[in-house]
Amino acid sequence: MDDLTNISVIRNILKKHNFSFSKSLGQNFLVNPAVCPKMAEYAVTDDNTGVIEIGPGIGVLTNELCKRAKKVVAIELDSSLLPVLEETLGEYDNLTVINDDVLKLDLKELIREQFKDMNVTVCANLPYYITSPVIMKLLEEKPGISSITVMIQKEAAQRICSKVGTRESGALTVAVHYYCDPVFRFSVSSGSFIPQPKVDSSVITLDVYERPSVEVSDEKLFFRVIKAGFSQRRKTILNSFSSGLSLDKKTVNDILNLAGVDPALRVEKLTLEDFKNISDVISKR
Ligand code: SAM
Repeated sequence: MDDLTNISVIRNILKKHNFSFSKSLGQNFLVNPAVCPKMAEYAVTDDNTGVIEIGPGIGVLTNELCKRAKKVVAIELDSSLLPVLEETLGEYDNLTVINDDVLKLDLKELIREQFKDMNVTVCANLPYYITSPVIMKLLEEKPGISSITVMIQKEAAQRICSKVGTRESGALTVAVHYYCDPVFRFSVSSGSFIPQPKVDSSVITLDVYERPSVEVSDEKLFFRVIKAGFSQRRKTILNSFSSGLSLDKKTVNDILNLAGVDPALRVEKLTLEDFKNISDVISKR
């Protein structure tokens, strides 16, 4: 097999298939040979691991996954990459390529059909434009994934891995920590891709808990509360919850008192327990 991190090999394959990069699909392909083997090691943890890859591109990471995993299902939206993948990875009989938008797929059904009795993980160099929706879909739908190893923008990785209740945290930090334990793996410079993006990237692994870290009575409401709190993070939670949840200040004050949370705090100070207590009080009303 040709070296899929070699720039002239990549250019030749892409030219042969008349492929041109799409900025709107976040197509920055990895050319740093050290990155994909490491990501694949994190994603394939035993002989029974099946991996879902999102956005295989020309297959540089897919190749490393196929070498290690029992089965790989790669989901690629850009149909012009299918003949490229056929040429680069056609030799693997443990690979299935699905031409679809990951955001529209029924992941539970895909896992049931493709990975019977396997330990299922996700591994991807994610297109930046869908980082948050993809991560939230993988967690919220609870399709039966044990871990998610993804390369994302460095700042997003730092935010996700920061502690809940600190200045660096955001709505995504709280949501991710509800479902899993995020681990920062390593950083990757922008020179590791063609075309070169403007930002650096990092690889993180999200180890998904069997049960969420706090038990809430209404999960939808819990996420509405998180979103409302962070919608105006510079204001006190009395103000941000009042406007974000469309409730008058007296009502929000009563809710926060019942939940045992100081209305004068900023949202970044709240813990997962605080969000749980607030949403449980609202849910009882
Ligand atoms: N894995 C390759 C690599 O590391 O070189 C390519 C990564 S590139 C950052 C992102 C890939 O995701 C592209 O191949 C792009 O076409 C694909 N993609 C973009 N949006 C997608 C979507 N909604 N569903 C599935 N694949 C998508």
